Amino acid sequence: AAPSPLLTLRGIEAGYGKIRVLHGVDLVIGAGEVVTLLGPNGAGKTTLLRAISGLIPPSGGDARFAGRSLAGLGPREAVKAGLAHVIEGHRIFTAQTVYDNLLLAAYDVPRAERAARVEEALAHFPEIAEKRHDKGASLSGGQQQMLAVAQGLVTRPRLLMLDEPSAGLSPVLVDRVLNVVRRLREGGTAVLLVEQLIEKALAVSDRVYALAQGRIVLEARADEPNLPHRLERAYFGEE
Ligand code: ATP
Repeated sequence: AAPSPLLTLRGIEAGYGKIRVLHGVDLVIGAGEVVTLLGPNGAGKTTLLRAISGLIPPSGGDARFAGRSLAGLGPREAVKAGLAHVIEGHRIFTAQTVYDNLLLAAYDVPRAERAARVEEALAHFPEIAEKRHDKGASLSGGQQQMLAVAQGLVTRPRLLMLDEPSAGLSPVLVDRVLNVVRRLREGGTAVLLVEQLIEKALAVSDRVYALAQGRIVLEARADEPNLPHRLERAYFGEE
């Protein structure tokens, strides 16, 4: 039998107060798979990541991760289960050093392993590693973004969710972040990527889903030749 997927979402419904944003989302991510989630503004991509990582409780449906239900898990428990969520727009501690930012993110890692985990995360970002003793505030916006991704890595997640990691980054830095995704994939880490730079995201992905108005309207392999056409149709409700 095929191994069960790392993440399985069935009929996920979620929203804010009385506003329902997600209307029954089905999505599957295999171990070590890189999946891009596309969709127009307001489709519910960020909301879906929040529902998975426990930032908002789903109001319906079923989510399973690594063989267990995610129901009722808060963000910290989700991280402990192996799920890291790098939220949109960097949220680092500007008054703390780069090193301490990473150490804080390793809060739930056994003390004896923390330093090694910080080094492991820094190894992906030489530019940040050089500034390990500098305050977060001294980093450029792009470097802060990279630090936020590095924070997601210190817990050694089985699934890393990145919400628009390229936002505000120069093309060179975008490529660097996406190269990290490529390297993670080679190392067996699964990634769920929300990204506006469609072509660049697809180049590092195995599969793609498109979300429109809170529903999955397309699922395809990232290298499917007909994908641009299908995406366009899906966005306009014709798929
Ligand atoms: P974008 O690409 O613009 O970030 P998205 O696909 O990530 O879009 P969401 O951010 O998930 O979409 O937003 C989906 C809907 O939920 C939108 O209509 C948005 O206005 C609404 N929404 C998002 N966050 C909140 C919130 N905290 N409270 C109330 N409504 C919200």
